[in-house]
Amino acid sequence: MTSFAPVDLQLAAPVGADKKTVAYFYDSDVGNYAYVAGHPMKPHRIRMAHSLIMNYGLYKKMEIYRAKPATNLEMTQFHTDEYVEFLKKVTPDNMEAYQKEQGRFNVGDDCPVFDGLFEFCGISAGGSMEGAARLNRGKCDVAVNWAGGLHHAKKSEASGFCYINDIVLGILELLRYNQRVLYIDIDVHHGDGVEEAFYTTDRVMTVSFHKYGEYFPGTGELRDIGVGQGKNYSVNFPLRDGIDDKSYKAIFEPVIKNVMEYYRPEAIVLQCGGDSLSGDRLGCFNLSMAGHANCVNFVKSFNLPVLVLGGGGYTMRNVSRTWAYETGLLVGQKMGPELPFNDYYEYYAPDYELDVKPSNMDNANSMEYLQKIKVQVIENLKRTTFAPSVQMTDVPRDPEGMNDEADAELDDLDEDEHTDSRYSKRRWDKYIEKDGELSDSEDEDENEANGVRRQPSAPKRRRNMMDYQNPMAAADDKDISGAVSARSGRSRIGSANGVGSHTASDAEGPRSDDSESETFDGPREDSLSSGDREEDEDIDMVDEPVANGTGPAVGPQEATPPDSPPPVAANPTVPAHVVEDTGNDAMDEGDTIDDPEFAKEEVRDEREKEDVTAEKATEVVERSEQ
Ligand SMILES: [Zn+2]
Repeated sequence: MTSFAPVDLQLAAPVGADKKTVAYFYDSDVGNYAYVAGHPMKPHRIRMAHSLIMNYGLYKKMEIYRAKPATNLEMTQFHTDEYVEFLKKVTPDNMEAYQKEQGRFNVGDDCPVFDGLFEFCGISAGGSMEGAARLNRGKCDVAVNWAGGLHHAKKSEASGFCYINDIVLGILELLRYNQRVLYIDIDVHHGDGVEEAFYTTDRVMTVSFHKYGEYFPGTGELRDIGVGQGKNYSVNFPLRDGIDDKSYKAIFEPVIKNVMEYYRPEAIVLQCGGDSLSGDRLGCFNLSMAGHANCVNFVKSFNLPVLVLGGGGYTMRNVSRTWAYETGLLVGQKMGPELPFNDYYEYYAPDYELDVKPSNMDNANSMEYLQKIKVQVIENLKRTTFAPSVQMTDVPRDPEGMNDEADAELDDLDEDEHTDSRYSKRRWDKYIEKDGELSDSEDEDENEANGVRRQPSAPKRRRNMMDYQNPMAAADDKDISGAVSARSGRSRIGSANGVGSHTASDAEGPRSDDSESETFDGPREDSLSSGDREEDEDIDMVDEPVANGTGPAVGPQEATPPDSPPPVAANPTVPAHVVEDTGNDAMDEGDTIDDPEFAKEEVRDEREKEDVTAEKATEVVERSEQ
């Protein structure tokens, strides 16, 4: 019988002693991208998290970068050329002509074609790759990219709202300088894309804690431990519905502690999917913000270079709260429970607090069950060769007779001369993939020869992540997905209104021409042009109906149900009504920091209010069940 220590909230308090250099990656374009109307994956949540992060003043304690978007060449370090080419060329306007490819690459229902799809992937992957690169160069101890963590994407296939696997690309970057990389995944879904990529190597250990059983993606059972060289280097902890803080802590900490002892990683990638939080629209766990953040804090306590990524998370207000709080933990900043005023303040009604509370849902994970799995997982870890030493000659970094320092100098020089690419020719030439380091999910015959088996429960049949909807979610949340696939061309409405025309605006956009990321040492006076801001307004209109007559008419199926509570004025200073669609600053980041008065002038479009209403409705349900 295990004793289950309660989650130590004190533990989650920032540790002042070990000051970390934190590099935070954020691209202010990211929130402008919208999957098709009603799709639960909303990049806007990253912008919401960012607004909280800035308004809490966390920018004072970290370096803020905008990464250069990953290029298609970089993406093909993991993905196939054909797949990346397809992602690059397909648009809502030409998708009809690519029916066959859509089927082949699983682009459709869960993973729709939307305007700016490829740029969105580039932003997500660019942040993770550049974060990894900074860790490699010792320029930071922690790198954060909330736009990353898209763990379901496969070599040649989109899956579970993910197209390009930024995590695999980030890990590949880390492998250039580190012998062993540990990947930890606390998303409610199995980290299948990352596991599959490194299933046959011992240079990456993947550890995923996830709901298993009649749930997307259907993989990740206890017995899936890797094959060949990778045997015992894939770790899966299958869980049932409703796991709470104290039982999660009781498995997470001992498993990770043992992983550290047996595997001795040199760098860690932590995927912080927010769909394991209580009340998530597609999730089924019952973690509070503190319970989720405890994982981040525990991983941080090992003082290894760590790349912290986002992932799933479909109740936006809770995802943004949690990622902001976790950013605070990483920089060692105590954050008060009262949310500072921020660009999206009304989303956080009615409490406007920095917290995600658990519900009273049942925990289907008995102590006995968890104990049994935990013991087995640790038994498997003991079978790993103690801290396998990889011959780094497999990744030939050092030309003969050259030491690390001289090599690094050459690298710097080389990069100075090739400022247009993250990977100069020299660095490309040095990277040689070790045979079998990346498992080739494409080749079924080879997989079979290697003993890679598909689980009986997970045949080639593709599942959809949206198949499961949290019954605790509000009615209007539940009803949305049904309409999605039927309307997959809907983003064209946005197209007509300028949605996704970022490519054009980029040409005269705020990016510097330097190959190095832009650095900010303060809140961004937002650099977007007013044209960009107008796009912001339009984008949000795509998602939900607008009542103020400035947007296109959209179907009634997305209207707020009549029984939803009316939007409540968040704060007397926040205008409850959109007076006029000025397109001014409503979406800008960081502007409110020094000037709370500024907030008064902010306008909100109706779409946002609809969202708030929907989210509030969820909250009402959650509360009534407590
Ligand atoms: Zn997920």
